[in-house]
Amino acid sequence: MSSLVPNLVSGVAVEPQGSRVPVLDPATGEEFGVLCRADEQTVSEAISAAEKAFVSWRQTPLAKRTEIMFNLRQIIRSRADELAKVISREHGKTLDDAMGEITRGLENVEFCAGLLSHMKGEFLEQAATGIDVKQIKQPVGVVSCVTPFNFPAMVPLWMITTAIAAGNAVILKPSEHTPFAANWVVEAFHEAGLPPGVLNVVHGGKEVVDQLIEDRRVKAISFVGSTPVARSIYANAALNGKRVQALGGAKNHMVVMPDADLEAAADCAISAGFGSAGERCMAISVVVAVGTIADELVEKISNRIKTLTTGPSTNSDSDMGPVITAEAKDRITGLIQSAADDGATIVCDGRGADLPTQGFFVGPTLIDTVSPEMAVYQQEIFGPVLCVVRVNSFDEAVELINGNQFANGTAVFTRDGQTAREFEFRIEVGMVGVNVPIPVPIGAFSFGGWKDSLFGDTHMYGPESFNFYTRRKVVTTKWPNPNETQISLGFPTN
Ligand code: NAD
Repeated sequence: MSSLVPNLVSGVAVEPQGSRVPVLDPATGEEFGVLCRADEQTVSEAISAAEKAFVSWRQTPLAKRTEIMFNLRQIIRSRADELAKVISREHGKTLDDAMGEITRGLENVEFCAGLLSHMKGEFLEQAATGIDVKQIKQPVGVVSCVTPFNFPAMVPLWMITTAIAAGNAVILKPSEHTPFAANWVVEAFHEAGLPPGVLNVVHGGKEVVDQLIEDRRVKAISFVGSTPVARSIYANAALNGKRVQALGGAKNHMVVMPDADLEAAADCAISAGFGSAGERCMAISVVVAVGTIADELVEKISNRIKTLTTGPSTNSDSDMGPVITAEAKDRITGLIQSAADDGATIVCDGRGADLPTQGFFVGPTLIDTVSPEMAVYQQEIFGPVLCVVRVNSFDEAVELINGNQFANGTAVFTRDGQTAREFEFRIEVGMVGVNVPIPVPIGAFSFGGWKDSLFGDTHMYGPESFNFYTRRKVVTTKWPNPNETQISLGFPTN
């Protein structure tokens, strides 16, 4: 029997009558859960609950908030196997990969456990005669977090943990495809001691997000998902006077220079291209082969592809699971066909691979001689497809990447420090790896791309996130001497 996924308002399961959405197991295509879509009233009640809880949560001592962060870390660590199974079931990624996701999510919980430092303000004594000035950080209020399917636990942990540590109350709106892990994390937060109402979950799609954006009680929106949705959420939230950070899609290039260690580069192309079936916003989707090494590199990558096993995450020998939906599979296979039609060379074709007959599987695919005007290059594929673009020089590689609309991550593979330094300096991308194919910053730094990969000013998690979820207030103080006149009509200077 399918389990029901409720909304969680003030820590209580809410299952409004009406809209029910099936949650499918991507490895079989069969329904294994049923999502309760939040109706208008449920969304409004969740916002009211958050608004009410915010009043006392922002007064909660920071030491107590810190304790909850430590408790949460302990709960997730001790039950990581259980959470990994939940993620793996609804997303399809392997258990190893799900454990990796949990570890990266925990990094932010650990960063947030240092909230005493992150919430500290500034103080300037004697800024003018007898006048001191301090800057304090205060929470924004009720904030909403809208998350994608591909990291069902990690992206919620990026957002909600920081927002809560900073003293806000949260409405989480997870992906309809992967709602179980989000509910699991919220329940773990409550178990860690978070008071009811500080963290609520509403399920659904565009209509729920639109209501959150339009409700005046919600002060900020954090979003991670595809670029068209990120762009429209950014515009709509700004129009509604909200703070907004909206992270979008990606097309990450990996440049392989002629002097690179080709064995290592081929290994990295495989891991970064096909891990999680390519459904990572930092996955490599384009290998830029510079100069004469292209043939050798393509051969090494294709030899490695032959060793990969695609199958359900329940098979311990699967390297890669299914993609998320039948629509995603159709989009990916359609783009592979478009590449063939446009004259690219399909070196390994994931459509013809030895795949399970049920579920939404696409095998690892390698497409050579791709050029920038092809649809397979221009669109985000978000599947297990590596394209190879051949260029003659480093300058051509840089020009190619800087001309792309997406700018989430990129990497250069070289043995030459000067080339790497030049790449870092010239490349117009938010996260850069040098011989590191997936340069996701560790928790002490923040995460974010440039151009169409991020709309807004602040990156996610880490220090920038504390800025996003707080407002600065500057207090100027004087304790006047009762024996001195305070009358002065001039503009105060000192
Ligand atoms: P998506 O844009 O379809 O959905 C993301 C969230 O937005 C979901 O919660 C969904 O319910 C909601 N949503 C969907 N359509 C909406 C609309 N029209 N209006 C308002 N809300 C809407 O993305 P997805 O398919 O869940 O995730 C994959 C995408 O996310 C890829 O493009 C990937 O690159 C991107 N992504 C980016 C990052 C990053 O950090 N930049 C991280 C992970 C995923």
